[in-house]
Amino acid sequence: MSDKVSSQIEIATIAGDPTTDPWREFRQVERITLELTQGYKYSLGKYSRFFIELENRRFMATRCDACAKTYAPPRPLCPSCLQPTTWQELSGEGAVETWSVLHFSPGSNADVRALETPFVLAYVLLDGADTLFPHLLKAPPEQVERGMRVRVAYSEGPVQHPIHLMYFVPVSTYEEAP
Ligand SMILES: [Zn+2]
Repeated sequence: MSDKVSSQIEIATIAGDPTTDPWREFRQVERITLELTQGYKYSLGKYSRFFIELENRRFMATRCDACAKTYAPPRPLCPSCLQPTTWQELSGEGAVETWSVLHFSPGSNADVRALETPFVLAYVLLDGADTLFPHLLKAPPEQVERGMRVRVAYSEGPVQHPIHLMYFVPVSTYEEAP
């Protein structure tokens, strides 16, 4: 391949008798591996305020006044009674309900690829919320337990996806190094 193209070309030939094989022209398999990168714009719509406030170091949920449920992650509409919700700030503290230790990274974006495995994905019931918030918990996996008090910490950035403006840390860690 010329040096103008960075792609790799692979040519494989499947053995066959060139004099009698009527399919000989098809026995060579050429494969070029193309690496494509794509930029696109994606609107976060009604969820945008949640991410904007993360930049301001504020953790926002939404509340349905009709059924008195508070959603974190926020829901623009209450899934129970379909009423529009209103924004409500939470303290960002909560307790681990359950968690997973990931020994393999899905590598879904640059922020995730930057994480060293193993890392902890925790489902946190934030104080004042009725739903679980799943996110990265920066804590040694062997120290995580149900009911462990955690709080939202904020990244300095830059991040690829705004959800990585935040992560969870044990409350004890936060108090030692605010
Ligand atoms: Zn409701």
